[in-house]
Amino acid sequence: MVNKYLYLNTIGCQMNVYDSEQIAMRLAALGYQQTSLLEKADLVIVNTCTIRAKAEQKAFSFLGRLARLKKKKPGLITGVGGCVAQQEGERIFKRIPYLDLVFGTQAIDRLPHLIQKIEKKRCRIVDIEQADKPRFPEANDRIAPASQVSRFVTIMRGCDNFCSYCVVPHVRGRETSRHPDVIISEIRELARSGLKEVTLLGQNVNSYGKKEGLCSFTELLSRVSQIEGLMRIRFTTSHPKDFDEDLIYALGTNEKLCDHIHLPVQSGSNRVLKRMNRKYTKELYLDKVAKLRDTCPDIAITSDIIVGFPGESEADFDETLDLIRTIEFDGLFAFKYSDRPNAPAAKFEEKVPDQHMKKRLQVLLDLQDTFTEKKNQALVGACLPILAEGFSKRQSSGNLNHPLQAVQWTGRTSTNKIVNFYHDDNPESCDDLSPGELVDVKIEKAYSHSLWGKLVEGTAAAERLKGDRSYAA
Ligand code: SAM
Ligand code: SF4
Repeated sequence: MVNKYLYLNTIGCQMNVYDSEQIAMRLAALGYQQTSLLEKADLVIVNTCTIRAKAEQKAFSFLGRLARLKKKKPGLITGVGGCVAQQEGERIFKRIPYLDLVFGTQAIDRLPHLIQKIEKKRCRIVDIEQADKPRFPEANDRIAPASQVSRFVTIMRGCDNFCSYCVVPHVRGRETSRHPDVIISEIRELARSGLKEVTLLGQNVNSYGKKEGLCSFTELLSRVSQIEGLMRIRFTTSHPKDFDEDLIYALGTNEKLCDHIHLPVQSGSNRVLKRMNRKYTKELYLDKVAKLRDTCPDIAITSDIIVGFPGESEADFDETLDLIRTIEFDGLFAFKYSDRPNAPAAKFEEKVPDQHMKKRLQVLLDLQDTFTEKKNQALVGACLPILAEGFSKRQSSGNLNHPLQAVQWTGRTSTNKIVNFYHDDNPESCDDLSPGELVDVKIEKAYSHSLWGKLVEGTAAAERLKGDRSYAA
């Protein structure tokens, strides 16, 4: 088979990262090898996101830059997939006249066939068909997984919640859960090839399986945790309205479940939450967080917040700041509200001017920074179990500026904090550490977005049980 090269540009969330892996696997079967060099590519695919206007602009700006490459290399095939493709369909051809393929969020299975057709006939194709029940990858769709420490696995697609600002239900379709047997078999195969940590993905994992009468999300977690070799389980995203006591109990007792939950609150004002169609109140959110912290005192909580939702007053925004002060999140993802096609809020009046949104975003991020730093500082002196992932970015780029000049590794705490650490004062002695090992690291410094520490030899990170605080600072 002649070697052909695929350049894959993934924009957006973890869901798109997972979809891109599926795209790469399917195209590998056609002989396309992935390359990081755009100039080398015979096929360029952009897997797009349309959650906010900015992500969509990013996709179109990349596509615009492809014009020159296509002129130099007329045989080059170019395609757009993902949420922008689903939303815009054939209209993209008008905007990007040299594009060969537009494929929607449910067309990944058909991609090899579409590419073969373009290779043979040099035609242009749009495939944005959406089935009521999207087909999930079967376990045996997987072609020899590359050995990796940590990976995303999709357990459900689409969403039925229709938050008034959100485009997801319109571009990803109705919520559909994947069969537990197929999920287990995929993760088991990955664990056999070296996977140590999995992140289960869905827009609302708490409603997993309910519609189809499959097992519950906590039952799924329990089955995943029985997979041999797998050390850590994460999941995202939880919806506060469906986040329940079963899951809180599982977080407190299941040893493989990491001490982290991403629980997007979006706003601290009940008036705004109602207009967002979130179906919970600030009080309910606070109550669930209190129960969670009662059962899992070490849990890290992160969240998403939208500032400047249409009609958000200064008083509403102050309520959001109050909520942040009350909860003291470990981290926040905050976004300026952005009108999206088909999302009802696009038609809401009282739009907040951009300069107000910018100001509110900055105030909110500055406030959150104080809590992130406080939480990180509290870990200095603690000895924490870290799943070693590989060399740190600074190490890989050769830009090592720590005074010891030792080899830097990177990994994460169970609470999902990045820890860069050095193995020893002797850089040559790093050979006996491998990615995927659970090691103890003594935290020496805290930065705003990461921690820094030193590997502690001879302790048994893997054997410590939940609630054992003997390693705390
Ligand atoms: N399903 C998750 C949930 O319910 O929170 C998250 C889905 S979305 C991919 C990720 C985040 O993008 C949301 O939590 C929200 O904060 C943000 N987001 C979604 N639509 C937005 C919009 N129109 N403008 C600004 N931010 C938006
Ligand atoms: Fe969008 Fe709401 Fe569904 Fe999350 S729960 S994907 S924010 S509609």
